[in-house]
Amino acid sequence: MKRILAAFLLLLCLVGCTPQPESYTADFFAMDTFMSITAYGESEQVVQDTAVQLEQRINALEPALSRTREDSDLYRLNHADGAVCEVSEDTYAAIKAAVQFAEWTGGAFDPTMAPLTDLWGINTDHAHVPAQAEIDAALTHVGYQNIELLGNNQVRLLNGAQLDLGGIGKGFATDAAAAMLDGTQGVLATLGGNIGAYGENPNRDSGNWVVGIADPDDNAAFIATVEVRGLSVVTSGDYERYFEQDGKRYHHIFDPATGYPADSGLRSVTVIDERSTRADALTTALFVMGLEEGMAFCEQNDIAAVFVTADKQVHVTDKVGEVCTFAFLGEEKGYTHAQ
Ligand code: ADP
Ligand code: MG
Repeated sequence: MKRILAAFLLLLCLVGCTPQPESYTADFFAMDTFMSITAYGESEQVVQDTAVQLEQRINALEPALSRTREDSDLYRLNHADGAVCEVSEDTYAAIKAAVQFAEWTGGAFDPTMAPLTDLWGINTDHAHVPAQAEIDAALTHVGYQNIELLGNNQVRLLNGAQLDLGGIGKGFATDAAAAMLDGTQGVLATLGGNIGAYGENPNRDSGNWVVGIADPDDNAAFIATVEVRGLSVVTSGDYERYFEQDGKRYHHIFDPATGYPADSGLRSVTVIDERSTRADALTTALFVMGLEEGMAFCEQNDIAAVFVTADKQVHVTDKVGEVCTFAFLGEEKGYTHAQ
């Protein structure tokens, strides 16, 4: 009897003595976005240090990727009147990645959209629909071919081009944070619509992370979830940054071919990928391409993507099933899972 009791007490102790995972969340505002990083682990000090170091790395990237801060590399480059500029290693790497994504997507992603984002003034108090002549004039400076990467962190912009890395900034920051992790420690990084889910989730038996895909009409609710580990889940949609004029919505993802917000019949695109920068560039590009061209591009290039259309259909590429577990939850909200 005593032995049974001792074994029972030992078992209790083993259960009770298992170290409970600690967690620490750093909430902050950077790149015009609310960000949150939660680190998990067995020591209070480790989780706090991890979250704070990741926050510091992301904050340090702000001057490398911002174009509005006058002390930033991009501001200097955009105002250099075609002269060669030396930029930081991070800025050079981000521009180089942006050019590669522009080439790959046939210019649907284009990091020289700055004149258009300025003209439309999305997310400013002077947002408005510009005159066609103004759009045409801005478009003459747009084109990633105007970026010259000269090596040794030297860049030149031709033809009055100006860079806007808003389409990959948060992805680049997510990857920079991920590069500081060992791959085992549980970290959930939420940089606006860019999620990085790394290591093991201590709150689920599977150790995976469940990331929701928002309902574009009510972004506090989910119409699908993906269960992932060691991946980034990035969503771009027409519902985060926009204004309305004469009953029409004008959002922040521009079609470089027209100079207007992409009117492709999509509400959002989500990409699930190991590399958040790639996923970020792709969500923007796929949104511009629209459902048909975008799905074809994904199938050709083995991309895991979820498209939500304006007529409430949810389309999922074949690759999604290979990299994560997808669950459709949108039926009650009138969405259809197109198979
Ligand atoms: P978010 O900033 O909400 O994460 P995106 O990743 O889709 O959304 O990026 C949109 C931003 O990218 C815009 O605010 C603008 O700065 C820039 N942008 C707009 N259209 C394009 C485009 N076709 N290619 C590259 N960047 C773009
Ligand atoms: Mg993007």
